[in-house]
Amino acid sequence: MGIRSVTVPAQSGRAVDAVEGDLLHIVDLDGHQVGDLWLIDAKDHTRWLSVGHTRDRGERLFPLVGQHFLDRFGDPIAELVADDSPGKHDMLFPPCDRSLYESEGLVDHPNCYDNFVSATASVGLRLPVVPDPVNVFQNSAPEADGTLIVGTAASEPGDSITFRLMRDVIVVLTACSVDYWPTNNMECTPLLMRIESA
Ligand SMILES: [Zn+2]
Repeated sequence: MGIRSVTVPAQSGRAVDAVEGDLLHIVDLDGHQVGDLWLIDAKDHTRWLSVGHTRDRGERLFPLVGQHFLDRFGDPIAELVADDSPGKHDMLFPPCDRSLYESEGLVDHPNCYDNFVSATASVGLRLPVVPDPVNVFQNSAPEADGTLIVGTAASEPGDSITFRLMRDVIVVLTACSVDYWPTNNMECTPLLMRIESA
């Protein structure tokens, strides 16, 4: 049994490897901070967590505790085993990117897309696309009429969400870079990955 902790500084990303059976805890250290999470099969880099397949097969916008996240071929890659947060997480939005910030008049702004590319490059991994992530703590459940409004992350300091990894993976987590209201409550803060091996 061992525990590894990796801090993801504000407006940045980190990639770490983990193995089947590990528990991955993502902790919102200071509260109200969204994280973009990707899982990529360590043995077959063409298999990554697909939010589309997960929504489809789970028939939910986000899995319940005990349900699986699937890869893009429909096979389970992780299980949601605990949610010690208000339970607001998004699987509809892409990572924030240059064009989003440029539409707000912000040029050369840090963003989750570029941070994903940098984090994967740091471990020698290069994917043909940047998949849509699991946006942990992102508070943007659709309204009844289909409107999508992003609210401030409801997570408080120390809140966490826990995944059990169902195969060897590369975990990529970015601490989302949106520093204007409301997503991260106007302030970008770090996240913690805690990987607990059996
Ligand atoms: Zn972001």
